[in-house]
Amino acid sequence: MTDEPRRRIPRTDDLLRSPELATAADNLGHDVVLSCIRRAQQQAREGHITPEQVAEAAVESLPRQASGLQPVINATGVVVHTNIGRAPLSIAARRAIEQASGYTDVELDMATGQRSRRGAGVLDALLQKVPTAEAAMVVNNGAAALVLATTMLAAGREVVVSRGELVEIGAGFRLPDLIRSTGARLHEVGTTNRTHLADYGDAIGSQTGCILKVHPSNFRVEGFTSAVDLPALAELGVPVVCDIGSGLLTHDPSLPDEPDAASALAAGADLVTASGDKLLGGPQAGIVLGRADLVERLRRHPLARAVRVDKLTLAALEATLRGPEAPVNRFRRLTPDDLRDRTRALADAIGGTVVETIGRVGGGGAPGHDLPGLGVALPGGDPDELARRLRTGRPAVLARVEDGHCLVDLRCVEADDDPTLTLAITRAMEVQA
Ligand SMILES: *Cc1c(COP(=O)(O)O)cnc(C)c1O
Repeated sequence: MTDEPRRRIPRTDDLLRSPELATAADNLGHDVVLSCIRRAQQQAREGHITPEQVAEAAVESLPRQASGLQPVINATGVVVHTNIGRAPLSIAARRAIEQASGYTDVELDMATGQRSRRGAGVLDALLQKVPTAEAAMVVNNGAAALVLATTMLAAGREVVVSRGELVEIGAGFRLPDLIRSTGARLHEVGTTNRTHLADYGDAIGSQTGCILKVHPSNFRVEGFTSAVDLPALAELGVPVVCDIGSGLLTHDPSLPDEPDAASALAAGADLVTASGDKLLGGPQAGIVLGRADLVERLRRHPLARAVRVDKLTLAALEATLRGPEAPVNRFRRLTPDDLRDRTRALADAIGGTVVETIGRVGGGGAPGHDLPGLGVALPGGDPDELARRLRTGRPAVLARVEDGHCLVDLRCVEADDDPTLTLAITRAMEVQA
């Protein structure tokens, strides 16, 4: 008699034939669904659920998607947030990825049937945006662009760089270590706060491969400082590589201190390197712009193949360059007035308080540049616990804890997501109550 319920446990094959689990097997993979079924059957054998609940338990335990990466609502007010994938892509870029994800003519001229230059469309789009660049190249990321440029120009020789620019940019990325890894020697000049033209002049000699000028991105030296600008460095007669970092292609008056590719080239840089997924608002990529002869040598360098960029990236980057304004730029420009109605509505819906907030560009861009905004301070309870519940809910929401409050900032939330966010917060607060 005690075996009776066990015999009623549905068989694996029957469960796999049920429409919901069959669809799941198509979307998530057979093995994933099988392990959910086995787990549910085991729960029934152990008496935690009834045999009749097995199918439902299996369905409930299915993962939401085939990849472990889940979407996150960014309620931090930090526009380029490294831990959640930096720049969110525009709708145009997302569609471009979808379309390029099957077979696509990434290296084929469809008219002639001959092999074509990989990523010609994106190079064309870059040169349209920065007409003063003679040539362009796209690689895997900003660090790869820098490694390729310094390897080509200075492996076995010296990279002359100011001590004020030897920065650590993110976890595991120290510029001096990266340069040394190419086999180039660093020739440091000047001091942390002041470097003069004569320092560079004294350093240059037969061993010099290039001068490297780095935008110190995530920190600022203030007070008694001095740096040498590009026009003076360009006079020294060796190639000048300028790593601008965050990837503005042309000057943006709303970020007056942020360097851009067109200005750096106009000021005499021979090569400019930048990231695609910071202020440009595209996919992870490294962008190189500059002198045609140098870019051609980069392209022919054996290392170029190792830092080659994927077709999905090429598609997304081209759509970012040609398409509608990137989300990072829309978010960055929002003022407290732009955010007021949505923020009030959210505060009313969840019983929170509207507060003034300071958003950030983030991702090592525009340090010290405040983005005044508005947020909702969530009521009650332990703010860290509430933030944890928001992070682990579905959809996942990343909020900020500040001054003893869990803060939700709508700057980087698409207005279409407001209802979903409201629901997620309501649920997280209920659980806590
Ligand atoms: C971000 C950054 C890099 C690294 O670029 P990734 O795309 O993250 O590899 C290099 N240099 C500067 C100045 C940066 O700001």
